[in-house]
Amino acid sequence: MKNEQEIPKEYCPYCGKNLIRVLSKQEQKKYNLVYVSEKIGISNRDSIIAWECPYCSKTWKREF
Ligand SMILES: [Zn+2]
Repeated sequence: MKNEQEIPKEYCPYCGKNLIRVLSKQEQKKYNLVYVSEKIGISNRDSIIAWECPYCSKTWKREF
């Protein structure tokens, strides 16, 4: 069986940890999402300007 939705790949540029977590079937139903990104948004007022890795705590600029 093929996944209906393509799961993107996203890795921390510093420690290389996979930042995409695929949700369980129950969570997928509950949140109506297939996956979540575990990186932490760092915002300046209302906009996210950088990301932080939850594993190594390094930050990098958000790409637009
Ligand atoms: Zn990291």
